[in-house]
Amino acid sequence: MPDLKRLSIHQATVMQQWNLRQAIEGTARAGLSGFSVWRDKLAELGTKEAAKVLDGAGIAATGLSFAGLITSADKGEAAKALDEARRVFDEAAAIKAPSVVFVAGGVDPRDKDIKAARARAVEGLAKLVPHARAIGVKIALEPLHPMICAHRSVLSTIKLANEWCDAVAAEDVVGIAVDTYALWWDPELEQGIARAGKRILAFHLSDWLVDTQDLRLDRGMMGDGVIDLKGFRRMVEKAGYTGWDEVEIFSARNWWKRDPDEVVRVVKERYETAT
Ligand code: ZN
Repeated sequence: MPDLKRLSIHQATVMQQWNLRQAIEGTARAGLSGFSVWRDKLAELGTKEAAKVLDGAGIAATGLSFAGLITSADKGEAAKALDEARRVFDEAAAIKAPSVVFVAGGVDPRDKDIKAARARAVEGLAKLVPHARAIGVKIALEPLHPMICAHRSVLSTIKLANEWCDAVAAEDVVGIAVDTYALWWDPELEQGIARAGKRILAFHLSDWLVDTQDLRLDRGMMGDGVIDLKGFRRMVEKAGYTGWDEVEIFSARNWWKRDPDEVVRVVKERYETAT
């Protein structure tokens, strides 16, 4: 059975109900010890205050989402995006989050060149390594579902994430965030996760609803959909992952409308029974 000591509530799960302070306090109230932070909410509270609230509640920041979107074909825009990513790393360091989720960016409609976008992402990533290394923050490449390839992430599979890690060759800094919702459909998932091994820096859990209404904002609670989450967890643990299990459920039509304490209670229950 999964250990509640490894369960982290991702801010996305209670995005509409709680600000960062409330979410940290709610997580502590539920007897949990990990919370994964969303950057906009962190900006509202400020990193200094957030660090204080986390410490006071005995909650570890398990990650920060997100940095990236660095695929612009325009050199000036790309440089700005890299600077912004470095600022996100600084924020992670300030709240002692071990890693930042990295979302590559989409296809630039000006050149419609997905290959070039991927090459620019890898090139940009390499430029981010020295700063991340200097401040002790890891970069967790998150492959996302191909449905959002156009505007969000040209990194769509774990295979590609492994290839990017190979290309950047900074194993002490660059790893992978494995998200069940993004990757469950991939026939090469098992090999990809095994190959990722120690590169896995984060594990995000949610379920895929059969009758999903919105591909981004209608994630399911674990157990309500079609992902074999127990099998998924086994694969990730077999690869050597021993870190936090972050429950990340963007759910505009359901969970964001519920009482957040109730949501966290259901997350705990499903974590134990469905993952
Ligand atoms: Zn995720």
